[in-house]
Amino acid sequence: MKNIAVFTSGGDAPGMNAAIRAVVRTGLFNGLKVYGIYRGYDGMISGDIKVMNSQSVSNIIQSGGTILKSARCPEFRTPAGRKKAYEQLLKYNIDGVVAIGGDGTFTGAKIFAEEYDMPIIGVPGTIDNDIYGTDQTIGYDTAVNTALEAIDRIRDTADSHDRVFFIEVMGRDSGYIAVPCGIGGGAEMIIIPETKTNLEGLYDLVRTGKKSKRSFIVIVAEGDEEGSAFEIAKKVENKVKGMKHKVTILGHIQRGGRPLMWDRLLASQMGVGAVEGLLYGERNKMAGVISGRVCFTPLEEAITKSKPINPNLIRMSEILGATK
Ligand code: ADP
Repeated sequence: MKNIAVFTSGGDAPGMNAAIRAVVRTGLFNGLKVYGIYRGYDGMISGDIKVMNSQSVSNIIQSGGTILKSARCPEFRTPAGRKKAYEQLLKYNIDGVVAIGGDGTFTGAKIFAEEYDMPIIGVPGTIDNDIYGTDQTIGYDTAVNTALEAIDRIRDTADSHDRVFFIEVMGRDSGYIAVPCGIGGGAEMIIIPETKTNLEGLYDLVRTGKKSKRSFIVIVAEGDEEGSAFEIAKKVENKVKGMKHKVTILGHIQRGGRPLMWDRLLASQMGVGAVEGLLYGERNKMAGVISGRVCFTPLEEAITKSKPINPNLIRMSEILGATK
C-alpha cells in the first residue's frame, strides 16, 4: 500500500478533525502518501482530492466540524456514481481509503467495496453513538456534555419560575444522548424510543410536581414514538390543567463545538488504528474501540447489528427521576 485517502461524510461530529489528523500523520509516519477527499462521496465522484502533509492537519485537533467538509451525496447511491468515484481513486493510484462517518457512510462504503477492489476502513464518527462494534463513537461524549450544560442552564430558569420544561435532544432513533444527560441533569423523566412511553405516569408525575411547585424537566429523545417534545408537551397540557411549561429543542448546538478530551483521544486512537489496520491487510471493516482497544468489525455487522443501551441505566433513570 502506497497511497491512501481519507474523507468525512454524513453528519459532522466533534473529533472528526482529530481523526483526520491521526490518519494523515500515521500514514506519513509509515511512508504513505495521504490524500484528503473533500465533501465525502461528492468529492470522490468529482475528484476534489488533495495531497495532505503534516502541516495540513496542524492546529485542528481542538476544533469541531471537519476540515475536509462533509456532504450528503445522492449520486453515490447509484452504480454510475460509484463507478465515477472508483475511477477518480484509480487516477490518484489510491489503494486504501479511510471513511469517517456514520452508518449511511458505512453502507455506501460496504456497497462500494463489494463492487470494486478497494480496501476501506470505516471510523465511526457520529454524535448518536448508535453503531455496533465500538463502545463509543467520535463526537458522542462532547455532544452529551453540550446537551448536559444546556440542561443545567435551563434548570436555573425552570427552578426560578416553577416551570415544567420539555427538552428535546438529538439521537435519531435511540436514547443514547437522552439517557446519560437526563441522569446527569437530574431529569424527572426521560422519554426514549427504546421503551414504551408511559404517558399516564408522566401526567401523574407532572401533577405531583405541580403541587410541590418545583422545577420539572422532561428529556425527550427526538425519535420517541409519542412524537416530538412539542407533541408530548401538548398531550400533557391537555391532561394536566394549569401546567406552565416551555419546550426547548436543543438541535444542532449538540453537533458543534470543541471536542472534549475523550473524543480527541478516541478519534486519535481510531485514526491510528484505521491506517495500521489497512497496512496489516484489514479491509471493509470498521475500526472501533472496545474496552480501550482498537477492534475491527466487518462494515456489514457495524451497520446491521444493534447496540442496545445498558438497561441498568434505563432502570436507574426511572428510580432517580420519580417524584413520589
Ligand atoms: P451518516 O454517515 O452520518 O449516517 P448519511 O446517512 O447521510 O450519513 O450517509 C452519508 C452518505 O453515504 C450519503 O449521502 C450517501 O452518499 C452515502 N450512502 C448512504 N446510504 C447509501 C447507500 N445505501 N448506498 C450508497 N451510498 C449510500
